[in-house]
Formats: sequence, structure tokens, C-alpha cells
Amino acid sequence: MANDLLVQGRECGECTVCCVNLTINDPELEKLPGVKCPHMIERGGCKIYSSRPKTCKDWYCMWRFMPGLDDSWRPDLKGIVIKRVFDNIPAGYENKIALEFEVIGSRKVIHNVDFINTLGGYIAAGFPCFLSYGKPRTATTMVFLNELLIGAVSSQDLSLIRDKLSLAYKKCVKTPKDKIRIEDGEIKIIPAGKR
Ligand code: SF4
Ligand code: SF4
Repeated sequence: MANDLLVQGRECGECTVCCVNLTINDPELEKLPGVKCPHMIERGGCKIYSSRPKTCKDWYCMWRFMPGLDDSWRPDLKGIVIKRVFDNIPAGYENKIALEFEVIGSRKVIHNVDFINTLGGYIAAGFPCFLSYGKPRTATTMVFLNELLIGAVSSQDLSLIRDKLSLAYKKCVKTPKDKIRIEDGEIKIIPAGKR
């Protein structure tokens, strides 16, 4: 997303989620997902801000671009980071921006009414949405939510939405994760079960 689409006046503040969450494979820095960057300042900020790698300069989570999300959606506060998805969008959904809701804190967030209302709004509007969960040094497992939830969203059945989100979350957590390594300057995905 182009930086001129960032929400005006919105800043990262004390959030450092992407300094842990991102995979970085730049000449200045190699870092695996779920691993704290050594340059991170705990309460927000970067010790090498002016010379930070290109990946850091270019990347923002979707909260920085979505004016409809209020300040409670800052990833460290909400426990969810929203990322844009570019690959493996299911057929029929390719024309809209795809959103990954990655749980990074307590699983309770998937039952949060604000989260459900927001997610339900995007699903009702046809935006492809995924729930995801990762572990350090692994790829996230994503579950496509639209077809799972559209009936419950249409009937505004909160209890059914919660049940289905719980199933999706369990699947995200229990599915074996592909490992990520950086070797010789290349990101390598090691399929789950292989070393
Ligand atoms: S270099 Fe700075 S901006 Fe990039 S991940 Fe590390 S702390 Fe964050
Ligand atoms: S996750 Fe989003 S809000 Fe948090 S530091 Fe990164 S870009 Fe900023």
C-alpha cells in the first residue's frame, strides 16, 4: 500500500509488534518471525531508526491504513495484527483487498464483540478475511473465514460466530507449522515435519 494512504495523524506510538512479527531478510538485518529485533526499544521505537532496513521503512500493518478502525485496534492493544494478503486468495474474492487477522495475544480476542462486529462487516462486504496464528520462526497457519462465517454473519448469530471462530482458531493453532529459516541470504520454508 502506498504510504500516502496512511491514516493522517495516526502513529505507531508504543507498538513494536512488527519489530517482533516480521521476517526481515535485508543486507543490514536478518530476522525470523516471532523473534525480537535486537534494535527494538521495548516501549516503542528503533535504535537505528534513520538507517533501519528497507523492509522496516516500507512495511505497515493495515491498522495504519484503515480509518474505520479506532485506536483500540493498534496491534499491541488489540492482540491482533492485520496484514494484507496477496497470495492464494480463493476464487471469486480476487477483486477485493484480502485481510489476515493474526492473533498475537490472548485467544479471548476472537470472542470480543468489537472484533466480531468489525470482522463481520468486512465479510458481509465481501472482503476475503483469514484468521491466522504463528509461532516463533514459523509461517502462520491461515483459515479462510468468509464461507465459514457468512451464514452466521447474515443471521447475526453471535453465539454461532463465536463457535465457528473457536473452531477456526483451534485449526490455526493445531495445524503443524512450516519452519522458516534464512540461509545464505534466502528465506527457506521447511515443510512441517521436516528438519
Ligand atoms: S530495525 Fe528497527 S524498525 Fe526494523 S525491526 Fe528492528 S527495531 Fe523494528
Ligand atoms: S504493527 Fe503496525 S502499529 Fe505496530 S509498530 Fe508495526 S506498523 Fe506500527
